[in-house]
Order: sequence, then structure tokens, then C-alpha cells
Amino acid sequence: MSEDNHNQIGHNHFSEKNLNKKDLKTTRLGFFVHYNKEGYRIDYYNTSLFKRLLRKGLIKLGLFEYIKNFKRRLVVKFVLKEKVKNIINSLTKKKLPLFDIISIETFSKCNGGCSFCPVNRFDDPRKDILMDENLFKKIILNLYDLNYKGMVTLSLNNEPFLDKRIYKFAEIVRRYLPDSYISILSNGTPLNVERFEKIINNVDELLIDNYNDNLEWHENIQRIMEHMSDKEIYKDKVKFRMRLENDILDTRAGQANNRGWIKTLDISCIYPFVALNIQVNGDVSLCCNDALAKEVVGNIKDRNLEDVWYSKEYFDYREKINTSRALVPICAGCDTVDIPRRL
Ligand code: SF4
Ligand code: SF4
Repeated sequence: MSEDNHNQIGHNHFSEKNLNKKDLKTTRLGFFVHYNKEGYRIDYYNTSLFKRLLRKGLIKLGLFEYIKNFKRRLVVKFVLKEKVKNIINSLTKKKLPLFDIISIETFSKCNGGCSFCPVNRFDDPRKDILMDENLFKKIILNLYDLNYKGMVTLSLNNEPFLDKRIYKFAEIVRRYLPDSYISILSNGTPLNVERFEKIINNVDELLIDNYNDNLEWHENIQRIMEHMSDKEIYKDKVKFRMRLENDILDTRAGQANNRGWIKTLDISCIYPFVALNIQVNGDVSLCCNDALAKEVVGNIKDRNLEDVWYSKEYFDYREKINTSRALVPICAGCDTVDIPRRL
């Protein structure tokens, strides 16, 4: 594809701004970041004793959700509404740039048991399905044609290391999209030192979420930490995150089983303007929160990524969300108001 065509179909926001790959790294927002004695990064999320006790007390009193919702509404009203509006206005001032985050789910399931997640292993209604390898290659070749330089996340609402092909897939992305930022998010349970070594050179970021309510590191993850301890080169790439399996987080598009009903938030949402999410069967779901693909924007089996991104269906969704979250059923019950990493 010629350079002219790239410009017509829209250059992504990332390459347009000449940002460095490093701009896509996880920010410290929301996490308490700590470096262990070897200098490796460990993030703690919602794990401080004070927070946990406070939460327990508020849950017991039946006040937790009420306060959480109230806080979110205040932040939306006084901080985020205007900010999100300005970002979307700047993205849509001219032609909407191409997505600069693409998440690909190559296997449909997770082995995790997180109570806040609609696709934990107890609640997930999806069948075990692997993405067709040719479909995966089609996506990457399409990105190659687009001269894509944004983020490629080889996980979505699944555990990527349950797919044994993930190493080969990461290698393919590295080979065809050398300037992209390759990220994988895993709960760490299928990993061992050998698998870690097999993947690490083909990713820019490996996020390992260690879910444990007693705040203990899983043994296999500890072994990976020990293995890394004398390897400077991994310092920048690997982030270990201690997280609670029984946490209460966002409503996840109204589908988190441990959250109740919320009054629809009066704010748009940035995700459909910057990120493309591909399910195992090629369906493009509205956002990363739409774990069960309830709102499908299109399918990329017989269409190009850019065609779906610039399709009428997608713009209809964007317009609805911009008008009111109430117009899209999953958005009506969603309290996610994230601003993606580099915006
Ligand atoms: S949050 Fe992640 S690790 Fe936990 S069940 Fe959901 S997909 Fe699995
Ligand atoms: S409001 Fe929630 S469900 Fe709707 S697009 Fe945004 S993150 Fe997804």
C-alpha cells in the first residue's frame, strides 16, 4: 500500500504525534508502584491494609457501592466530562485517526476466578474457541499494510498463555510490525521460566497480574522474579502486579457480577475512538469491556480493519455514545471513564 493511501485511510494518532513507543507504557495511575531490591517494578492495586479494612467495613454497612458510585459521579461531573469531551473533539476535528490500540483474543477463555470479571471461569458462558491462524495472519498483514505503529495487545478478556501458539504469534507481530508496541496481559498462572523466556524477546511489555487475596505471590511467579533478578534487560518490560481476586471494580459494561445497578453516567467514552478489539471469530466488539461481545460493530474475516473502523456502524455507535451512554445498552450500565495511557 502506498504512503498516499496510508494518509487517506488515516495514519494513527500515535504515529501522527510522533510519540515514542515509551509513551504507551503503563502509567502509575491507580497503582501503588514499588521497586523491589533488584530494581524490578511491582505494582499494588487496592491492596493497602487501610483500603481493605475500609472496604470491608463499608461493604458490611451496605455503603460501599453507594460511595463508589457517588465518587465516580463527582469525578465525572467536575473533572472528566470536559476532559473526555475535549479529547474526543480533538480526535474528530478532522478525519478520525486510525485506532492505535488493537487487542486480539486468540483464545476465548480464562482460567482466572476474579469475582469482578464477567468471564471468570465460573461465569463465562463462552465455549473454548481458538482463533483461526489464518485469521490472525490476515490481521497482522493488514496492520503491516497500514504501516501500523501503535499498540498490539495479544490478550483481551482471556488468558493468552492458554493458547500454545501465543509465542509464534508474538514472533509474527514482531517480524511484521517492528515499530509496534507489543503488550501481553496475563494472570501469570500458566507461566514458568521456560515460557517466560520464550515470549519475552518478542514483546515490549509483559504485565503479570498475580491475583491473590492473601497478597502472596504464586510460586511460579516468584521463580520468574528470581530468574529475572540479574537480567537488567527485562527491567523495563515486565511489570508484576499484586491484585485481589475478590475485588470490587468497575461495572465492566454493566456485566460485573459483583456490582449492582448504576445510574447512567453523563459522559462520553474514549475507547471506541482509539481502540479496536477483535474476538476469536473475527467479530469486532465495541470495547475491551464488552467481554461477551454483546455489541458487535463488524467482523474482519471478509473486511479490512480500516473498513470496519471507518464503517457507518462504528460511527453510529460513536455518535450514540457521544450523545448519551443511555443509547447503547452496555454503556448505559458502564461506569468506566478511563483515559487511555497516552492521551
Ligand atoms: S480479570 Fe483477567 S484473570 Fe481475572 S478472570 Fe477476568 S480475564 Fe481472567
Ligand atoms: S461506556 Fe463502557 S461499555 Fe461503553 S464503550 Fe465505553 S467502556 Fe465500553
